[in-house]
Amino acid sequence: MSKVLIIGAGGVGNVVVKKCAQHPDVFKEIFLASRTKGKCDAIAAEVKKMYGVDVKTYAVDADVVSDIVRVINDCKPELVLNVALPYQDLAIMDACLETGVNYLDTANYEPKDEAKFEYSWQWAYQDKFKEKGLMAVLGCGFDPGVTNIFCAYAQKHLYDSIRTIDILDCNAGDHGHPFATNFNPEINIREVTQVVRHWKDGEWIETPAILDDSCVHFSFDYPEAGKKESYLLFHEEMESLVKNIKGLERIRFWMTFSQNYITHLKVLENVGMTRIDEVDFGGCKIIPLQFLKALLPDPGSLGTNYKGLAVIGCVFDGEKDGKKIKKYIYNVCDHAEAYREVQAQAVSYTTGVPAMIGAMMMLKDVWKDTGVFNVEQLDPDMFMDELNKCGLPWQVVDFEGQLPE
Ligand code: NDP
Repeated sequence: MSKVLIIGAGGVGNVVVKKCAQHPDVFKEIFLASRTKGKCDAIAAEVKKMYGVDVKTYAVDADVVSDIVRVINDCKPELVLNVALPYQDLAIMDACLETGVNYLDTANYEPKDEAKFEYSWQWAYQDKFKEKGLMAVLGCGFDPGVTNIFCAYAQKHLYDSIRTIDILDCNAGDHGHPFATNFNPEINIREVTQVVRHWKDGEWIETPAILDDSCVHFSFDYPEAGKKESYLLFHEEMESLVKNIKGLERIRFWMTFSQNYITHLKVLENVGMTRIDEVDFGGCKIIPLQFLKALLPDPGSLGTNYKGLAVIGCVFDGEKDGKKIKKYIYNVCDHAEAYREVQAQAVSYTTGVPAMIGAMMMLKDVWKDTGVFNVEQLDPDMFMDELNKCGLPWQVVDFEGQLPE
């Protein structure tokens, strides 16, 4: 019997539960726990109606290890799939260690009071997971996640050596709102307002944040979506890829933003609404970014009228059999199609599907080891096959476009 406990009933959690329910041969029993039980129950009711599958639900405070242990002890899963917020990663990993359960997530741990994206805290669990004979898989969404798998696949099958990687993330969709974020607004805004870094010749190079007039950007011609302005950004998968892709000289991450998004965010930042420290408001302590989150559309609700495509992939430059080659591996995901299938927009879809596939790899023992792993350290082949079968088909093409030097 393969039992999975999913923690987090937001935009991504909705997709994960439904995709697990589509594979009853692998996920024999599904449990869903989150802060607000009503959100779990709403997803469970849809899953019952759509697939005839029962999902047992729990309220949990995933900041509190003993509360997570209580839920794990009640449902006794083989795997905990964490799609709550990055703040909860360490508490959930601790609960897994205490109860002897494997772990998978989609975003690296962040302390609430500091927007700091790095794996150091979770990599520090390496020995603890090894000693307990357990496996933790980190960052198994799309980026991080599928982008790391594309790199592992390129390293295994396409190249003898990879010199450079450019990860390009384009959301060419339109949700019809003046301003909204595609995943949790607090996490998203913390990520995009930070100082930008990329890695070259063994060191991290800092460049201005995307709201600064001197930030680095260029126009990239995305398959099917066309030309979009793409901004240099720091993204967490680069930290593990520089360790695990041998001989790498440079890695960069680019993300598209519309001028409208940048203008809104600039104003919000200028007036202090993106601050993550406490301010006094009428005698109450509030964190402006958390207040802003309460005002913005729930990312899980954006799907209804979302049109357009998300195109995410990696461009590689390197050598095979003594010849220089440039390859581009990418996926195109349609917001409206994702909505038709699981009532979610493409950003939740492209995160939830790989999380389900990673869980499938662990429950089928395709990924079986002890310790803490980033996904490019694991075999990409079956994962790549499942992407094609589960709604995220990918292409490999010779890359003929231009990237900034
Ligand atoms: P949402 O905000 O929509 O959902 C988060 C869920 O976690 C909510 O249901 C929330 O509960 C629950 N939650 C928050 N705090 C707690 C807590 N203390 N205890 C229990 N439950 C809690 O976020 P998304 O679904 O958009 O994102 C989920 C995760 O996926 C995030 O970590 C995000 O960073 C990651 N992500 C990864 C991507 C990738 O490609 N790798 C891309 C996009 C997202 P409540 O509803 O009560 O607030």
